Amino acid sequence: MVDKASLVARWQALSADMDARGVRLLAVSKYAPEDSIACLAAAGQKDFAESRPQQLRDRAQRWPELTWHFIGPLQHNKAKYIGRHADVWHSLCDIEMAHEVARYVEGRRLPVLLQVNISGEAQKQGVTADGLPDLYRAVRKLEAFEIIGLMGMAAEGGDARLSFRQLKALQQKLLQEGVADASLRELCMGMSGDYPVAIEEGATMVRLGTVLFGES
Ligand SMILES: *Cc1c(COP(=O)(O)O)cnc(C)c1O
Repeated sequence: MVDKASLVARWQALSADMDARGVRLLAVSKYAPEDSIACLAAAGQKDFAESRPQQLRDRAQRWPELTWHFIGPLQHNKAKYIGRHADVWHSLCDIEMAHEVARYVEGRRLPVLLQVNISGEAQKQGVTADGLPDLYRAVRKLEAFEIIGLMGMAAEGGDARLSFRQLKALQQKLLQEGVADASLRELCMGMSGDYPVAIEEGATMVRLGTVLFGES
């Protein structure tokens, strides 16, 4: 972890850069302590991303004025935390889980992104490219959600640019074939190691942990 002054300096440089490019910066706070979140919130950061459901719930309750993005894997018994407390759910990749989360969404439509396994690695989460149109159609029938985009992670040590191009191409295909409508506008791709490439390839949101908070 970096000290407070460096954290704010890193954030200022990154957020100015992202603002200039029209890209939304998600601060991945999963390993960051609460005082680091307080510090960035005071500096002006609005979007935070968590990969553990209970931690998201706790932090969303503590800071309701911030926007909480869920980016992690989900088990059925944690679905309620996401349905009740997430502001955006990025890792929707299975229809059973979508139904489970939908039960806990009340009085609103939860914005979601469909996570696609663009790296092709078996251990990575996400729907396959072939399964994406059917997942899109099935999720779209659920009143609880608004599908706003696609999320993906590049293979570690692989060709990140190629993975990001694939995600962009999948989005274009869904739009052109009339499967998706214009609300499928977001491409959430790029982490500390590969975000400049992701932005070149059309990312609208990047998820930054280490480059902001330092090594955990
Ligand atoms: C942890 C995590 C990140 C942030 O990774 P860094 O390399 O530290 O920027 C981004 N996306 C997901 C899904 C993560 O779990």
